[in-house]
Amino acid sequence: MLLTLPGLIDPHVHMREPGQTHKEDWRTGTTAALAGGFTCILAMPNTQPPLVDIPGLEAAEECARKKALCDYGLFLGAGTENVDTAARLAPKTAGLKMYLDQTFGPLHLKNKAAITAHMTHWPAAKPIVVHAEGRKIAMAIQIAARLKRSLHIAHVSRKTEILLIKSAKEKGLAVTCEVTPHHLMLTKEDIPRIGAGRSEVRPRLAGKTDQAALWENLAVIDCFATDHAPHTAAEKDGDNPPPGFPGLETALPLLLNAVYEGRLTMEDLLRRMHDNPKRIFSLPEQVATMIEVDLDARWTVRGEYLNSQCAWTPFEGMSVRGRVMQVDLRGTRVYEAPYVIVEPGFGRNIAGGSLAPDPVRPIPM
Ligand SMILES: [Zn+2]
Repeated sequence: MLLTLPGLIDPHVHMREPGQTHKEDWRTGTTAALAGGFTCILAMPNTQPPLVDIPGLEAAEECARKKALCDYGLFLGAGTENVDTAARLAPKTAGLKMYLDQTFGPLHLKNKAAITAHMTHWPAAKPIVVHAEGRKIAMAIQIAARLKRSLHIAHVSRKTEILLIKSAKEKGLAVTCEVTPHHLMLTKEDIPRIGAGRSEVRPRLAGKTDQAALWENLAVIDCFATDHAPHTAAEKDGDNPPPGFPGLETALPLLLNAVYEGRLTMEDLLRRMHDNPKRIFSLPEQVATMIEVDLDARWTVRGEYLNSQCAWTPFEGMSVRGRVMQVDLRGTRVYEAPYVIVEPGFGRNIAGGSLAPDPVRPIPM
């Protein structure tokens, strides 16, 4: 059966460019996005250099403008030195990302005063996303609540965390959150199968109780976000394996499999992969945009056949359902399985893109 769905939105991906194109670049990353049914992705700022200032934003935007195949937004990273710059650049971005816990890259923000300053100055109309784990989530929610501003919690993975967010929502606080397919589908018990280095991810794979709590509290989860974070197989198998999984091409089939198994409804899925991310991140409507999915296609995940440059996956060998057959974006057919059929650069920045000042209008005489 062929099913037509709206273009999916992934509010959490790492495109690795500029700086680490041996892992992924905007062309391979957005090819993976289209093959996975995503027509809009929001990219994280822990690139090299990190996206924390005007040159950083210009460099990332230039790569994306030339190579992106789907629409995109760029997150700005919060540092101790860029509170004013960040607030000024806000209209050109998808939002502000604050790393309150250690992650891949240099953007770890430990200073509570800087966290508060960013939350104070960042415009209310633009979202703030935090990577916070455990008690750091409580701290972030507390500061946001005091400043009466909304907050989105990235990749929630633990029982204590989802319950904390549930209780914040019950108190009426403007808190939203996302969960990754890997935290829904994998646990620590999968580590021997995946391999120790390849299993490295932040937040780490959790236990069965945590995983069960995520499913039990599905109503608390606003978005499914992949946290697509590719590294090469050689890096993952090396001495110092960096944390992160690719995820763009496996998210929809894994979740459609959950729909088939009755663990999720199609409405649950679309709300979390389209409606809610669109609303939370104030994304513009993608007119004449849709994906066509063959729901009967059953296939086995193989890293070597993925479009992501890293060519491995923690879901290797898993049986999934549903294949994206074609994608229309803004009235143009952009993908016909298994090929992208538009040129790099087709994707547009949801925040308007170019940092060039608006053209000077002649003063009417
Ligand atoms: Zn991430």
